[in-house]
Amino acid sequence: MIHAALLLALFADFDSNFTGRTLRFDYHHVGTAGEQHVAYSGLRLEGEWAGSRRQLVDPETLGQYRFRVLDAASGELVFARAFSSIYGEWKSTGDAKQRWGSIEESQRFPEPKRPVVLALDERGDDGVFKEFWRQEIDPASRFVDRSPLVKQGEVLTLAENGPAATKVDLLVIADGYTAAQRGKLEADAKRLTGALFSTEPFKRRARDFNVRVLHVPSTSSGISNPRKNEWRTSLLGLAFNAFDSDRYVLTFSDRALREAAASVPYDALILLANERKYGGGGIYNLWATCTADTEPSAYVFVHEFGHSFAGLADEYYSSQVAYEDLTKPGVEPWEPNVTALLDPAKLKWRDLVDSGTPLPTPWNQAHYDEVDLAYQKKRKDAIDAKATEETNEALMREIKALTQPLLAAEEHYGKVGAFEGSMYLAKGLYRPEVDCIMFTRTPTTFCKVCERALEQTIRRYVD
Ligand SMILES: [Zn+2]
Repeated sequence: MIHAALLLALFADFDSNFTGRTLRFDYHHVGTAGEQHVAYSGLRLEGEWAGSRRQLVDPETLGQYRFRVLDAASGELVFARAFSSIYGEWKSTGDAKQRWGSIEESQRFPEPKRPVVLALDERGDDGVFKEFWRQEIDPASRFVDRSPLVKQGEVLTLAENGPAATKVDLLVIADGYTAAQRGKLEADAKRLTGALFSTEPFKRRARDFNVRVLHVPSTSSGISNPRKNEWRTSLLGLAFNAFDSDRYVLTFSDRALREAAASVPYDALILLANERKYGGGGIYNLWATCTADTEPSAYVFVHEFGHSFAGLADEYYSSQVAYEDLTKPGVEPWEPNVTALLDPAKLKWRDLVDSGTPLPTPWNQAHYDEVDLAYQKKRKDAIDAKATEETNEALMREIKALTQPLLAAEEHYGKVGAFEGSMYLAKGLYRPEVDCIMFTRTPTTFCKVCERALEQTIRRYVD
């Protein structure tokens, strides 16, 4: 227990710059593969600032983008948040070479007491952030929407462990649950967050989290599935088939989502879809999505939260994705769990590698790929044939049964090294261990590198 007077002293810096409430900057991120623009939408006052009051500037190591807040008079950096975005993914798709796109985005930050400059940076191929937009704002001006927040739906509290300022505030928002399905939502949320908190490092850190569920009843059950011509009106607008990827669940209605969430303190969001069909998604410091009722739902919940919470990359490389040029050759990815291994001596997780483990670390990739590619073809055929979830799940069990013994038999299984094949590329990118929750659906643990990145992220909110 931290004494109240001590907290006051610790937060003195924060209090000199910020009011303690949350300001939200809404905008549209628009452009093509080759150019990007920010179209300013507005500023909205939200509730209490739930984030850390001591660690206000994220390290520059993570994220495709960075949002900065600078004191307008002195130029001092008072807040910085690393993030990735739907726009950042969209610009790497083939569509972005053909036409303009427009994605709703927002940035939440502690409400400043004085005029500030807002700035957005994008990470270049050299790994360095470069500013592409800035604007000065006066938080005291009449251009900030200060209308009272409208409480939507019901908040179910699953875990309350302390003040929002010193805990990770995890908010699960339901989509596609009717009023009558409240009990199902509570059971689903308990089951899935239960899976998260039985996985390290969340297990040992469970008391550093507050966990809440927001239920705004939907008029009908489920979310839209365009490939089956099934359409639902839902609060958050969650839908399958984002970027024409069958299993990819996103919403493009950021404004509706933020307004719904604004009356609940939160640091991290998971959007839970009441669906039998396999799917999910996760974008760093945006949110994760997951469907509730598939055989691997608990796995997907944990995997996608790894993306959104700590910026972990997918370690798999064979599944179909829409991204065409996410990583250029010779560029070291910023994600903590993937490397181009440009200089093994400077490997970012070098301290976790035993002296006897070679870099790159050999594994039987050719045989694994043979087995996996046959599965990927069956999976694509099943999706194209609009197969049932039971058929898809039988396929997933089959690949697990085939690949689990292969990976477990690897000489360097369970050891940290640099194993070729990661983040959608079979060659040129490396992952830290043979297997991990970010690689296959088999393991129930993260590799040591992912676990450490998650632990470091928790500390950004609680220390
Ligand atoms: Zn990993």
